[in-house]
Amino acid sequence: MATILPSPPKIGMVSLGCPKNLVDSERILTKLRSDGYAMSADYAGADIVLVNTCGFLDSAKEESLEAIGEAIAENGRVIVTGCMGKEAELIRDRFPNVLAVTGAHQYEEVVGAVHDAAPMPPSAFLNLVPDSGLKLTPRHYSYLKISEGCNHRCSFCIIPSLRGDLVSRRPDAILREAEKLIAAGTRELLVISQDTSAYGVDIRHQPRMWHGDEVRAHMTDLSRELGKLGAWVRLHYVYPYPHVDQVIPLMAEGLVLPYLDIPFQHASRTVLKLMRRPANEAKVLERIKNWRLVAPDIAIRSTFVVGFPGETEDDFKYLMDWLEEAQLDRVGAFRFEPVEGAAANDLPDAVPEEIKEERYARLMELTARISADKLQAKIGRTLDVIVDAVDAEGGATGRSKADAPEIDGEVFLRDAGHLQQGDIVAVEIEDADDHDLYGVPV
Ligand code: SF4
Repeated sequence: MATILPSPPKIGMVSLGCPKNLVDSERILTKLRSDGYAMSADYAGADIVLVNTCGFLDSAKEESLEAIGEAIAENGRVIVTGCMGKEAELIRDRFPNVLAVTGAHQYEEVVGAVHDAAPMPPSAFLNLVPDSGLKLTPRHYSYLKISEGCNHRCSFCIIPSLRGDLVSRRPDAILREAEKLIAAGTRELLVISQDTSAYGVDIRHQPRMWHGDEVRAHMTDLSRELGKLGAWVRLHYVYPYPHVDQVIPLMAEGLVLPYLDIPFQHASRTVLKLMRRPANEAKVLERIKNWRLVAPDIAIRSTFVVGFPGETEDDFKYLMDWLEEAQLDRVGAFRFEPVEGAAANDLPDAVPEEIKEERYARLMELTARISADKLQAKIGRTLDVIVDAVDAEGGATGRSKADAPEIDGEVFLRDAGHLQQGDIVAVEIEDADDHDLYGVPV
């Protein structure tokens, strides 16, 4: 006689914020799935809705509160987790019916709250989890979180107070996770943390055995070992500490993608000092030039804040000149926005909104021109492209090694109907605009 299995409770998840939060959501869901819970893609089918919040900027907080309100209205049984867990009182004042509020990466607590609110019917048959864990990103790329928290205290940032000091994962655990992801179809690993170059500092770069060899908990060693696994390896949130120079030869060797995401935030030393940024030493321009000598195709992506308190027109012009010389490949910019609890809010000389807007527009215009020139120079070349999506009209969208998903440009392909998501193909570049490329598989 067949065993009739009890239906497990279904969990819905709303994941807000940055890729790091997405990784947390994946971990929570993986744990719940391994505990036997089922997932629901909509509010109606869920027994519990988890809202994984972001509280980095005031605008993100508002978005989180709206998401909680929507989940309460649509479902009613809501557990809140993530960065806004620090503000449990505010959440409970506004939504007295939330079942539980837990903080960022308190996996046990949020999972425990789910167990309390919707207990699992006992059944050994419900314990099913894919080996790679459960993913919210497409199968062909995966975020790989190597550490949590941050030892810096940038004046505009509240992440250390939300997430604590740096805690690095063991290198063997990271490599094991990467190996599983690749076995499950991942072709691109996106290494993330708050400060990738600081990886292992907290555990004194202690080595661990991995496939018979010792691997230090150090960015260079980890990058090399990840590179040997055969997927694309893309490094995010790298600060330009001197040892970053050692990673560039790995790019030249093809072990790591020639791509660095370095959140410079500014170039003026006065502003960087007010921001209390790490690795704020001179000679970055010189080092970028040297990196390009070693790995000529290296794409450098960065973000900048304009209108930081105390930023003068001279500081801003310095930044513009610096950008002109640095010729960064990809640039994102933000107008300064005070974040509740951040030290920068107490700084004098706030920049008026209209000046922030004007500087933002100037910076975006300059960086779009630099990007357009750089992409024009790629016309006629053949580049490797990873396919993100294939459409019904025979076209496809992908990314070159210079493009991270979501934040950089794309490569639009024609005559690509035979391709599949996750394929890595050679593409002849035929055209370009400010941010994207156009080409055909060869
Ligand atoms: S490096 Fe600065 S901006 Fe980044 S998480 Fe740490 S304190 Fe925040």
